[in-house]
Amino acid sequence: MSSTAGQVIKCKAAVAWGPGKPLVIEEVEVAPPQKMEVRLKILYTSLCHTDLYFWEAKAQDSVFPRILGHEASGIVESVGEGVTELGPGDHVLPVFTGECKECAHCKSEESNMCSLLRINTERGVMINDGKSRFSINGKPIYHFVGTSTFSEYTVVHVGCVAKINPLAPLDKVCVLSCGISTGLGATLNVAKPTKGSSVAIFGLGAVGLAAAEGARLAGASRIIGVDLNSGRFEEAKKFGVNEFVNPKDYEKPVQEVIAEMSDGGVDRSVECTGNINAMISAFECVHDGWGTAVLVGVPHKDAVFKTHPMNVLNERTLKGTFFGNYKPRSHLPSVVQMYMNKELELEKFITHQVSFAEINKAFELMLRGEGLRCIIKMD
Ligand code: NAD
Ligand code: ZN
Repeated sequence: MSSTAGQVIKCKAAVAWGPGKPLVIEEVEVAPPQKMEVRLKILYTSLCHTDLYFWEAKAQDSVFPRILGHEASGIVESVGEGVTELGPGDHVLPVFTGECKECAHCKSEESNMCSLLRINTERGVMINDGKSRFSINGKPIYHFVGTSTFSEYTVVHVGCVAKINPLAPLDKVCVLSCGISTGLGATLNVAKPTKGSSVAIFGLGAVGLAAAEGARLAGASRIIGVDLNSGRFEEAKKFGVNEFVNPKDYEKPVQEVIAEMSDGGVDRSVECTGNINAMISAFECVHDGWGTAVLVGVPHKDAVFKTHPMNVLNERTLKGTFFGNYKPRSHLPSVVQMYMNKELELEKFITHQVSFAEINKAFELMLRGEGLRCIIKMD
């Protein structure tokens, strides 16, 4: 048992006090984990576009003050009542969508949308008692997607924690806790391109490039990268992207450009932008008869997906995914193992590193579209 088990821990956390306001490093109190909860010491965290999106408060909810962050790695500090699978010292990745292992989704081989622990961006509290484990001077600071990793310590439901190989370097595998697994799984588990096929990737941030990596691993021969930021194209070559389209270079819709390049449409497309027009283009650029498009980006709250029904009747398939359809507890350890076996390279996704005190720099980099993943080192 650690000396802090059962006690309130005082530590530093980056608090988002309001939409778009720079995060402030504050001293927060972190309550002990309750039933089926785990308290984690976060060692590394990184910034994903979803954090930026909820910080800018472009979604329905605007829960503030809040501790954002969901892509991270850490070590179990203590566990609450009923937790038997994890103990102090275990190396873990927290995940924004959970796996209770008991509901119909967890029992289904096809779904990772756990009824109890699926992503909920509006809930800022723990499900056990409907309260936050974070406070400053007795006032609650709310959680974010059940993870809140922009804190030296956080409390997470046991179902949102994947126990991983203790030899895995936590400063690298932290990016598998969201973005990279999401992109990789969107291609390998959902789009499922066959050898020699063509795949269009919309959005060449870390998630899109991980999707491209999945296409490369699956043996796709044409990987067409689509991005409004041409600065992304050089970097994308390292991820197997071998053709590029910047929609700004054309008068006509990008789906028409891609259809012309690919004799009627690509076999698969994966959308990783969050932009509704890109989502529609990603669907309309797949080949009729067999094409499948997979949506990954988190859309604006008022977005509406509009396409002519004939595009669907013509035997195109539209799918969507959270976390690349991986079940976090059951599948994430094997994705970490892919890295350990050198089947998957993570270093090329990590372009920046900052200290926890400099966390706002990570936001600035993403806002400027610079780099892929910025690792935030907690101590
Ligand atoms: P990012 O900001 O690093 O990359 C997004 C890229 O999309 C940028 O290069 C940008 O220039 C490009 N882009 C934006 N609009 C475009 C358009 N209309 N056409 C072409 N390119 C466009 O973001 P990221 O961290 O890689 O995340 C990508 C998306 O995936 C975000 O929407 C994020 O919220 C979402 N996401 C979803 C899940 C999930 O489980 N479904 C998990 C993680 C992230
Ligand atoms: Zn479940």
